[in-house]
Amino acid sequence: MNRLPAVLLPLLCTAGLAAQTPVTPPANKYPPAQDVRLGLEAAAQVRRQLPILQDDLVTSYVAEVGRRLVQAIPASLRHPQFAYTFQVVNVSDINAFALPGGPMFVNRGMLAAASDEGEVAGVMAHEISHVVLRHGTAQASKATPYELGELAGAVVGSIVGGRVGSLITQGTQFGLGTAFLRFSREYEKQADIEGAHLMARAGYDPRDMANMFRTIERQSGPGGPEWLSDHPNPGNRFDYISEEARTLDVGQPVRDARAFDRVRAHLRTLPPAPTTAEATKRGGG
Ligand SMILES: [Zn+2]
Repeated sequence: MNRLPAVLLPLLCTAGLAAQTPVTPPANKYPPAQDVRLGLEAAAQVRRQLPILQDDLVTSYVAEVGRRLVQAIPASLRHPQFAYTFQVVNVSDINAFALPGGPMFVNRGMLAAASDEGEVAGVMAHEISHVVLRHGTAQASKATPYELGELAGAVVGSIVGGRVGSLITQGTQFGLGTAFLRFSREYEKQADIEGAHLMARAGYDPRDMANMFRTIERQSGPGGPEWLSDHPNPGNRFDYISEEARTLDVGQPVRDARAFDRVRAHLRTLPPAPTTAEATKRGGG
């Protein structure tokens, strides 16, 4: 296969465009293997507590969007130990989260809320960026007096959020509020910017990520959106994502409307999903 030398690609891709915002992973005193261990433990708990949708059409669609984004991760941010996996949680709330090392969960409610595939990809690109930049263990690195196992349980609990997150955090928290452990605004902005880069490299329009955040705000029910409470707006989110998009060469954006429509039509034929609150009550967790 004829391929351009890698050194030439950045020159070609950025010709005529303003400079992209560089993204540097925050300081982290833990090895990537720690992210993997934490993420796998938490993912096992998530699967015990939340109903995972067992539907190949829907799951393979989400995994395909995820795979496209993962392939776009730049070499400098790749961790060979990480394994990106994608599952759909059969609940109606608008939420999604990715655990350290790569396990990702997208709520069925998120798929229902999105206007197109680009919006689904937008949330996933943001989540994958938190994983790639190792924000979970970086956050744990900031608080030295606590044992990693205890602190990390709380960090991961706050990533999962809500009742299931509290269960993961339980007994590990040492009086720390989970608000303290939420990603900082600085990490949120990093995930937005890196997410925009991933989207463009994967052939998506980064502006769809900004659009999705507006969609989430608009469609979330009473009590506010879980996703936005776990990923607070660092301020001017819509504007700086749109600004970053102008520095990126999207070329021909992927707009596979047929696959997205097929999945949505299929979801409507399934029994309605419960809310997370209903699902976790029923599960007796
Ligand atoms: Zn976030």
